[in-house]
Amino acid sequence: MTGPDAAATPHGEPADDAAGTLTLDSGLRGVLGAAPATALAKAFGMTTVGDLLSHYPRRYARRGELTTLAELPLDEAVTVLAEVLSVSVQDYGRPQPGKKAVHRTKVVISDGRGMLTLTFFNQPWLIKTLRPGMRAMFSGKVTVFNKTRQLAHPAYEIVPGSDDPLDATISPAEAIEARLWADRPIPIYAATAAVTSWTIAKQIAKVVDQLGPIDDPIPERLRRERGLLDHRDALVRIHRPISDEEWNEARDTLRFTEAFVLQCVLVQQHTEHRARRTRARLPVPGGFLERFDAALPFSLTVDQELTGAEIQRDLGLTAPMNRLVQGEVGSGKTVVALRAMLAVADSGGQSALLAPTEVLAGQHLRSMARILGPDLTAELMPTLLTGQLPVAERRKALLRTVSGQARIVIGTHALLSDTVGFFDLGLVVIDEQHRFGVDQREALRLKAELPPHVLVLTATPIPRTIAMTVFGDLDVSTIAMLPAGRPGIETFVVPLDEKPAWVLRVWQRMAEELALGRQCFVVCPAIAPKKLEQGEEIDFDATPMTTVEELLADLRRHPLLAAARIEPLHGAMTADEKEHTMRAFAAGDIQVLVATTVIEVGVDVPNASAMVVMDAHRFGVSQLHQLRGRVGRGGVPGLCLLVTAAPIGSPARERIEAVAKTLDGFELAQVDLEQRQEGDVLGRFQSGGQSSLRLLRVATDGDIISAARTAARELIGGDPEIRTIPALRAAVRRRLDDSERASLSKG
Ligand code: ADP
Ligand code: MG
Repeated sequence: MTGPDAAATPHGEPADDAAGTLTLDSGLRGVLGAAPATALAKAFGMTTVGDLLSHYPRRYARRGELTTLAELPLDEAVTVLAEVLSVSVQDYGRPQPGKKAVHRTKVVISDGRGMLTLTFFNQPWLIKTLRPGMRAMFSGKVTVFNKTRQLAHPAYEIVPGSDDPLDATISPAEAIEARLWADRPIPIYAATAAVTSWTIAKQIAKVVDQLGPIDDPIPERLRRERGLLDHRDALVRIHRPISDEEWNEARDTLRFTEAFVLQCVLVQQHTEHRARRTRARLPVPGGFLERFDAALPFSLTVDQELTGAEIQRDLGLTAPMNRLVQGEVGSGKTVVALRAMLAVADSGGQSALLAPTEVLAGQHLRSMARILGPDLTAELMPTLLTGQLPVAERRKALLRTVSGQARIVIGTHALLSDTVGFFDLGLVVIDEQHRFGVDQREALRLKAELPPHVLVLTATPIPRTIAMTVFGDLDVSTIAMLPAGRPGIETFVVPLDEKPAWVLRVWQRMAEELALGRQCFVVCPAIAPKKLEQGEEIDFDATPMTTVEELLADLRRHPLLAAARIEPLHGAMTADEKEHTMRAFAAGDIQVLVATTVIEVGVDVPNASAMVVMDAHRFGVSQLHQLRGRVGRGGVPGLCLLVTAAPIGSPARERIEAVAKTLDGFELAQVDLEQRQEGDVLGRFQSGGQSSLRLLRVATDGDIISAARTAARELIGGDPEIRTIPALRAAVRRRLDDSERASLSKG
């Protein structure tokens, strides 16, 4: 931190601007020295000046405003600005022979309301350096010791001049300068135990002092139109603002810059992809597609027609298709994808369908055979190729695939293995995109001599901003309507907080459904006490959770359900067991499935009419919506009961009420987006390949993202290689390097 005397100009830059020679690509080692550079590389993966300068402050503190201590999260690295209340020394008696004395200093700090205890070991000089009344920044992890919150041996930095009142003898000019300095926002950076926020501030100050001119990545005209700062100013001001307006302005500029560079990356990828060449796949008169359409027992919805036309147009071109089809569960995506496969079969090619699980791959095979009918099935020979097949069957499937006999091959990621070869792979259909990474898409592409067309299906409605940010390299089709005549789903909240007795009514209601010959799902957040579904992290100590094992036992004993066969379904079962259970449920041999979210994706049992979700507050909005899509798929109306103990007015309860109120997946996706942490949102949609966003927020920055996309399209349309703006080209390259690093570090 720079004191009043160190600040030569408002930003503390050296007066002679030309002295700076650093560029964004300069290495940190040369500027900062080996040890600090290594520490930054270890903590944040930074190697260049550009990396360091794009580590933007998380927030800004003020010398006059102390950090609210009561709100500090436990077990996280925090940086606080607080006032020292007291400093005391505690000695632990005489040292044992051969051992050093333990010397403990206890410092109590305050934000004016709450207090926090700091403990330092063997730093006897502290009593002289930290004095009551001083303000300082402290950084460490908040832990609980003896029921008291504390920071154990934190790093600290005294705010200069914080304990000596302004000297009456200084000149008015000096007084103004000192006052200005005292009002400046203090940047607080994301830090680690090894690299504190103020260390980062100091390193950044060093770099800024030596920064040379920086070319702007934003075209001059666009910058003027949007009233943006020049890039160098923006970087300096976000790190060393003299006022809140300064960092606000800087942040606006850098946020737009981030959106623009990202869109340039995506638009460029899209353009490059379209520049590849492959074979057009056109249906032939009297071919598979025509025969299929003629035999279809229903007419396609308008959205299915439109999406189908978009796909047929893509397939008819020699540029490989790269299209995402999004539509609610039951909106008829599978039919649309199947029609694309038939066009490819007409052209003599094969299609691969990738499902996220073996259960779903098996289900796809069965439903495909059903909808194709016996003749087309025999001719197209849809073939299952998964990791679980017995050796002989697998060999047969591999043979059919490599010979081209199987026009449709269905499998899981085992289809990606090197042993699987295709005769003429023309189309890859990926069901439920967000579980497949960009890398996996790429691996499948390499299976064909010419890049295959790619169609991605997702039942998760994707808000437009996410589509533009994460799937910006894909074209998007949307099936917004459900086929007519769907009986629909009614959803009710069962609020145990106000009406504990209603849980009895839940099982009664379920028994009524069973009495009508229908089937039910009961969804629990966990498998067994202390056994979560893979990838879930829930704090077990918070409140007890309903588990599959415990509820299964209860329901089996329940007098109203005595006649029903009740079975579990969850991720700790083997693929065989799951498959077996699903088949038995589909065949009507099982009446009630007590399951975890493994049933979320794709399971299709038309006779299933009711779903009970236990501890509904444990699930996200989109997840609940997805789950209830499992019922009401056939001719019977669906019923969904969301059981929760979340009290009225709590955010969890509002989320659940939102789900009960509407069936519009896009509306719910927006609710979801607004409630989630940014990292969560992107993490859920992206699977490797994109590094996270810094200043851009997909929930709130839709307008910026749209504007940046339009500008990027315009620019790259006229200058695909971005030759006219070298600084932008460099920024795009840095962004790609970043993404690559991010995906490598994910393993
Ligand atoms: P999704 O894959 O989007 O979940 P599917 O393609 O599996 O949806 O369709 C769900 C069910 O609706 C299937 O049984 C399918 O045969 C049927 N279906 C699809 N399109 C229509 C339509 N236009 N009219 C009536 N039923 C349809
Ligand atoms: Mg489907």
